[in-house]
Amino acid sequence: MTRLLLVGPPGAGKGTQAAILAETFGVPAISTGDIFRSNVANETLLGLQVKAIMEAGEYVPDALTNEIVADRLSQADARVGFLLDGYPRTIDQVNELDRILATDNTALDVVVLLEADTDVVVARLLKRANEQGRADDTEEVIRNRMDVYAEQTSPLIDVYDKRHLVVRVDGLGAVADVTARIVDALAARGLASA
Ligand code: AMP
Repeated sequence: MTRLLLVGPPGAGKGTQAAILAETFGVPAISTGDIFRSNVANETLLGLQVKAIMEAGEYVPDALTNEIVADRLSQADARVGFLLDGYPRTIDQVNELDRILATDNTALDVVVLLEADTDVVVARLLKRANEQGRADDTEEVIRNRMDVYAEQTSPLIDVYDKRHLVVRVDGLGAVADVTARIVDALAARGLASA
């Protein structure tokens, strides 16, 4: 059973690392950003509700986000553990995740904080915007996403620090190097890969 959170500013490489780590630890990677993006692409009711919010670099309302995560975590594959990428992002979401885990009599093992310098991640996101044509990645939107992260999500680090759950990992460098740093940091916490 491995229950992990991956936290970090936009562009720190959470999505890339989440996919690799999920494989390594044999748990599903659950990315709220991916869930929202696929709903937007498929023009579902949820997608229509969140499209403009995402394009502005704002956060989807907590009630909507929490409902989606509660539903996803109740599915069978998440019973063996999970790696949450991009959730929780607000204090309200922390509270909801606490509630879900308490209901299941489980708890988080580790919160991985992927650290990266703002200028570096802005440059990364602009490059990705050019390559992938992501509508949520214009420079103005990227700056806004950074501000929203600083205001709403960075306070979560304190909350989890007080619970002694946070491991800090340098997110800069080659993908494999960053993965190795995370795996080492988790091993130091007694979490062995599958
Ligand atoms: P991401 O790919 O994780 O950066 O997410 C892309 C976008 O989806 C974000 O900029 C938000 O608009 C929305 N989103 C993803 N996760 C959350 C969350 N936990 N709470 C609110 N909005 C979210």
